[in-house]
Amino acid sequence: MLTRVRTRLSLMMKTDLHTHSYYSDGVLSPSELVKLAKSEACEVLALSDHDTTAGLDEAQQQADKLYLKLIASVEISAQWQGQTVHIVGLGIDKENTTLQAGLKQHQVLRQVRARKMGLGLEQAGIKNAYQKAKALAPYMLTRTHFAQMLIQEDICCDMNTVFKYYLSGNKPGAAPASWANLAAVVGWILVAGGVAVLAHPFRYGFTPSVMTQLLADFKDCGGGALEVVLSHSTDQEIRKGTKLAKRYNLLASLGSDYHGWSNQRQQLGRLKSTPANLGFVLDVFL
Ligand code: AMP
Ligand code: MN
Ligand code: MN
Ligand code: MN
Repeated sequence: MLTRVRTRLSLMMKTDLHTHSYYSDGVLSPSELVKLAKSEACEVLALSDHDTTAGLDEAQQQADKLYLKLIASVEISAQWQGQTVHIVGLGIDKENTTLQAGLKQHQVLRQVRARKMGLGLEQAGIKNAYQKAKALAPYMLTRTHFAQMLIQEDICCDMNTVFKYYLSGNKPGAAPASWANLAAVVGWILVAGGVAVLAHPFRYGFTPSVMTQLLADFKDCGGGALEVVLSHSTDQEIRKGTKLAKRYNLLASLGSDYHGWSNQRQQLGRLKSTPANLGFVLDVFL
């Protein structure tokens, strides 16, 4: 009975469990992000920067001032079957040394990759590509910064085009990074006391059979939840995600993946609810 009441309460709380600050590829500072969440009437927010926890202290301080519940989180890139997937670690202890060692390893990979991306773009005729992208990145230099730079330089008009023609596969600004494998990444999150969430499952373009293999492996190595609701998820996508979450006994998570760039359409906290017939990962933290 108690569980049922808690579940209903959590479903009524305006929640966003996937967002970015300028410590990775977002635009806002952690404080600005928390203030925006408050102004959107969010009660619960996860800051989940790529491969870094550097923004969490500032976010927590602002959240305390505004009586908003912050869930300390991180979004970690992982390799699975030669592909990159993203795992959000919700409710992590950022002081955990195993987690931090893993994140440090990824931060170094990112620095090396960014240099290679800069060189590739330079060879394709884009002068000072590295320096121009770096000028947009106060901390970590990501592919998003290269993409925004190419848009600002009028080389491309939107994010999808720029990723397709410049930053993926064998395109001039693409450089592979050897992220840790899925099991290792989930392991870092678990050892830091967090819940591992497979982020934006339908953004990878996997076939249904590849997706089921991924989810089976994710569950086997200790994955706990699936991002069932994202910005602009259709009812059909939510139904598809719900089916998969049920099949692999995963909790549902939800998140906008808000970054704050003016040319991106995700808005903070404006999300459909997770289905009432699925366990909701927020209940783990209430
Ligand atoms: P990175 O982690 O540096 O490889 O950068 C990945 C980030 O690039 C993702 O987290 C997204 O924010 C962004 N991204 C990747 N593909 C796209 C796309 N097609 N449109 C917009 N943003 C994208
Ligand atoms: Mn991103
Ligand atoms: Mn992601
Ligand atoms: Mn993200």
